[in-house]
Amino acid sequence: MRYFTIDEDRAAGYTGFVDAAHKWKLPGVRNCPVCKSTWSAGFAYPCVDLTPVAALADFENARPEPIEEYERLCELVRPLLPPGALLEPGTTFGPLIGNGQGRFGQLVAPYPWWLLVRREALEPLQAEDLRGLEGCHTQVRFRQRNAPELLELQILPMGRLHRDCLPPDHQPPCSRCGRGSTPLPDDLLLDATAVQRDLDLFRLEDFSGVIVCTERFVDTCQRLGLDGVAFKPLPSKKSR
Ligand SMILES: [Zn+2]
Repeated sequence: MRYFTIDEDRAAGYTGFVDAAHKWKLPGVRNCPVCKSTWSAGFAYPCVDLTPVAALADFENARPEPIEEYERLCELVRPLLPPGALLEPGTTFGPLIGNGQGRFGQLVAPYPWWLLVRREALEPLQAEDLRGLEGCHTQVRFRQRNAPELLELQILPMGRLHRDCLPPDHQPPCSRCGRGSTPLPDDLLLDATAVQRDLDLFRLEDFSGVIVCTERFVDTCQRLGLDGVAFKPLPSKKSR
């Protein structure tokens, strides 16, 4: 199987932008007792509804918290997550809420770590034999004629970068908070050994901002004429 990363297609001439944030979020971590970092990054689960959690106010504001409080809040949301989901500080849940404006393609990647799709494009995509395509409602408001209805794809974590594309001084993530200290390399190499589930769309476990899809996903988008994003080949290699 061949893999690709997904980015906004700046050459397509679309002017649209989305200024939005997810409804709920885990806090960041302040001064981790092991690595001393204060940080937040995060996966996104837009189809996960936190309404069953009693103390929802704890999930409404982005802020750093001591690690014990972050870990307590993780345990409250864990039962609500889909299989295979991972948490890290700053992980978000629920619909995107905000404003949008301009012209959009069929697929929309306003940031490398979000992938939105027009409703009329998602339905034919889901009718194909692709795995891992769950569309979630957004609450993005448009004040324009012909406003698109955008759904966000919930993209589960899977796979990691291969050791060969990481710097020689690469360290494993912090044992307590999970923070990785290595910046995203310029030239990515996927560790094919770590791709263990049958998903056509996923985000890397160790670099949650990188969205990866299979050749099958690319072929289907091209056959259906879905534009708005550019696919870049992502080489892969098995680790020993
Ligand atoms: Zn740490």
